[in-house]
Amino acid sequence: MLLELRSVSREFRMNDGRILHAVSDVSLGIEPGQALGLVGESGCGKSTLGRLCARALDPTRGSVHFDGRDVTRLSPRDLRALRRSVQFIFQDPHSALNPRMTILRSVSEPLILHTDLRGARLRAQAAELMEMVGLPAQFLSRYPHELSGGQKQRVCIARAIALKPRLLVLDEPTSALDVSVQAQILTFLKELQSRFNLSYLFISHNLAVIRALCPRVAVMYLGRIVEQGPTEEVFVAPRHPYAEALIDAIPVPEGRQPARRITLQGDIPSPIDLPRGCAFASRCGRAIAGRCDAAQPGLYSTGAAHDARCHLYAPA
Ligand code: SF4
Repeated sequence: MLLELRSVSREFRMNDGRILHAVSDVSLGIEPGQALGLVGESGCGKSTLGRLCARALDPTRGSVHFDGRDVTRLSPRDLRALRRSVQFIFQDPHSALNPRMTILRSVSEPLILHTDLRGARLRAQAAELMEMVGLPAQFLSRYPHELSGGQKQRVCIARAIALKPRLLVLDEPTSALDVSVQAQILTFLKELQSRFNLSYLFISHNLAVIRALCPRVAVMYLGRIVEQGPTEEVFVAPRHPYAEALIDAIPVPEGRQPARRITLQGDIPSPIDLPRGCAFASRCGRAIAGRCDAAQPGLYSTGAAHDARCHLYAPA
């Protein structure tokens, strides 16, 4: 396993002293060269989980392992090496690039920080990175405002792969782009992954994007993974009522009727005041009175490497 999270929780103390439970008891793993999709509504903790994976945040409880090592206990030197191996790509390429820096400076920055490349060798390496992401080397002398949104995201990707990372955490990498550009960037990310055998944690609220890119998916609701399994299986036969509702909500091509199973209703509980039982109970049409609102469900196996956090799947 390249990345493994073991019972990871992350809490934030609010100004009034109350605790916000952003991520609760999450365990998941990503194999070398594998892409794992992470889906859920905004505010469910996906981005916090991404930051925990990249060790941009420390967990409140649990541990994060990269290549078999507990990264929560690394020395500053080893932490620096980890930062080379795990890179982040953010949603908005417009704010990810410094408007006062040339593209050369932006792409070269990680190389300046982590290698001894300088001068002509540095520029040649930056030009090679530009070529890898399908941009001409002449763009190196330009500023971000001279590039389109898709070109800026390619520059962010060039910068992220500059140090030959093994894992990319991609947080909604196409959602700030025009629809026509999104497909190009997704195709490019797929090619990049197979070319360099990269692992991806691909965070998105867009299930169609996850389906196109990730053989495995984890569905998150209010800080917990409620279902994880092979993507096609989750799409065709979702187990958790929340995953089922998310998949039902995907628009279908004109002329085809979606098979409606569950419509999401009711209020989402506050992550500051989580219910005692299942966090989805207030919106779930299958909730079992006296059980679902009384006890937190475990993560139960529902098939080969396919789990759901729901009392419906508790062993008899
Ligand atoms: Fe619905 Fe109960 Fe399953 Fe929660 S545990 S998703 S409330 S059936």
